[in-house]
Amino acid sequence: MARTLGPVCKRCRREGMKLFLKGSRCDSKACPFEKVGSNKKPLPPGMHGFKRGKLTEYGEQLREKQKVKTYYGVLEAQFRKYYEAAERSKGNTGQNLMSLLERRLDNVVYRLGFAVSRAQARQLIAHGHICVNQRRLDVPSYLVRPGDVVSLKVYKREGNKAKRPGPREIVDVALDAAKSRELPDYLSLNAGEVPSGVVMRYPLFDDVSLPVNPQLIVELCSK
Ligand code: SF4
Repeated sequence: MARTLGPVCKRCRREGMKLFLKGSRCDSKACPFEKVGSNKKPLPPGMHGFKRGKLTEYGEQLREKQKVKTYYGVLEAQFRKYYEAAERSKGNTGQNLMSLLERRLDNVVYRLGFAVSRAQARQLIAHGHICVNQRRLDVPSYLVRPGDVVSLKVYKREGNKAKRPGPREIVDVALDAAKSRELPDYLSLNAGEVPSGVVMRYPLFDDVSLPVNPQLIVELCSK
């Protein structure tokens, strides 16, 4: 699974907003956006970050696209496929694109509160700890549909082998941290013995928690 490595907080600094990529750190004082106070933004990364002037039209379009890619953890080739699918669908292409990205399984696991970040959600899925409709599914890019039940895989005790503590503990900590986050309307959560969630309907553009202007992305990708 390809992924972007390297410093994470600088990606938020580049976009000038919190993208919540690092879990609990994002709500703590260690976040660069908290350090500078609520009225200021930390400088963009790079030696000349403080010198950069106004963005060009192309620059604005590019930043909007990069922001969405970073937020959902999607690389360029995959993003292009989402864009082409959004273009083929009826309705507004930009809104279709955001709706498609919002349907990704790693995003749904994060928004249900089973993980503290989308990166952690991706790891839980790739390591086989997440089930969709009672079957293990290790594809973070799976697009959920209405009626899908997303749950944590249950591990049975075997002989003297202790139950694996990892995933359950991770999910419990994440669920606790997620109490401060809003659960979107298109999901329903059952944080019982086995945490699970149901996809009630397809997500709409309004369900996306990232402030974004998808029209700028469409203008860039349709060139
Ligand atoms: Fe870093 Fe999270 Fe703050 Fe972004 S929101 S700068 S990832 S701590």
